[in-house]
Amino acid sequence: MRPGAPILRFAPSPNGRLHLGHAYSALLNADLARRMGGLCRLRIEDIDPVRSRPDLVAAIVTDLAWLGLTYPEPLRHQSRHLDSYRVTLQGLIARGLAYPCFCSRGQIRARAAASAGNPHDPDGAPLYPGTCRGLDPGITAERLARGEPHTWRIDMAAALRCADGSLDYEAFDGAETRRVAADPARWGDAVIARRDVPTSYHLAVVHDDAEEGITHVVRGRDLEAATDLHVLLQRLLGLPTPRYHHHGLILDPDGEKLAKSRGSQSLADLRAAGVTPEQIRARLGFA
Ligand code: GLU
Repeated sequence: MRPGAPILRFAPSPNGRLHLGHAYSALLNADLARRMGGLCRLRIEDIDPVRSRPDLVAAIVTDLAWLGLTYPEPLRHQSRHLDSYRVTLQGLIARGLAYPCFCSRGQIRARAAASAGNPHDPDGAPLYPGTCRGLDPGITAERLARGEPHTWRIDMAAALRCADGSLDYEAFDGAETRRVAADPARWGDAVIARRDVPTSYHLAVVHDDAEEGITHVVRGRDLEAATDLHVLLQRLLGLPTPRYHHHGLILDPDGEKLAKSRGSQSLADLRAAGVTPEQIRARLGFA
């Protein structure tokens, strides 16, 4: 690969078998990487200690190889980099850009419902009403010292002041590129580290896209709004912003997003039913 060539990635979470939607994203990433003279990496986004399973990691590699997709080694497994995410998180905390939140989901729902307009984030979750922002530092320290369960939230207002500049990014679609203005404020004080691990999807993905030198992020439209938060984190952390393409989603016959929980057929099911990789490629427009 020539120096400076594009680097893409396919980044599934191993909490279910891959389905046609994953196949489309993986094939599109591979196709674009090839056409741009670059490469595509495979990243295993396994920060969820409960839902991620080693057998599903192996199944991802098997399913992708069956589709004809292989990736440069070593693969990045996020669960092996929790210390790096912790350091990144500590940096944001030290700069006053993140605070611990002791609220339960139920408390957040109840307080958000009571707040004017009951606003929601782009994923449909109630916007955090800011209960733990500005808690007395002494009391916070005591609760942390007691080991009280908590997430870490970005202080959105402080983060926007700190980023202090244009929060736009370049979106590409075929040969066309356009500037998109990111609006991270619509996420409110989003969780950047979960209760059980020192990161969230948002923090880990931004960290890893930079760590792996990703130049082009190609992922589903369901993550388009999250890019606003990612651009903000990149500015705060002094990381480069890749170009983004958010592709359309493969829907089931009811027009719903494919999901294991909705009983969507996995690639393994299709394989067992005698469907060939060529048929999958053709069905997804990669013949
Ligand atoms: N791990 C995420 C998922 O499986 C994708 C993350 C990304 O492409 O940024 O939905």
